Amino acid sequence: MKLLLTYSKRKGGEPIIARIVKETGVLITVERANIDTLAGEVLIDVPDESARMICDLIKSRGAEVRILEQGIVRDENECVDCGACISICPKDVFYMDHEWKVQLRKGRCILCGRCIVACPHRALSQSQ
Ligand code: SF4
Ligand code: SF4
Repeated sequence: MKLLLTYSKRKGGEPIIARIVKETGVLITVERANIDTLAGEVLIDVPDESARMICDLIKSRGAEVRILEQGIVRDENECVDCGACISICPKDVFYMDHEWKVQLRKGRCILCGRCIVACPHRALSQSQ
């Protein structure tokens, strides 16, 4: 399950993810990280059965966390199967099926947002 973690460095520079991995032994994969001098936004992947516990631990350290249930969402009424999203996606989320329809492997999405910008029909959005 993917979790989006946001935190402010004003609250201290504690290495939240490293500490939680050390304390729990749960394997956490960092999929994407945007960190500057003031704040950080990190997308992590955790085993489904540990997600709630990891969320609680993150919150207890003063960070915010959101469970991303779906990743990217496609409006099938707007999509014209042009394939522009296939070439732009760094994680091979999109592919053409045998009927030349674009399909998604949502579990691979790291929510980088490139496909949202690239889609000429505005058919893609980020799930809330
Ligand atoms: S770029 Fe947009 S319209 Fe084209 S296949 Fe992808 S989702 Fe559909
Ligand atoms: S948000 Fe990024 S990783 Fe996710 S489907 Fe779009 S291009 Fe691929």
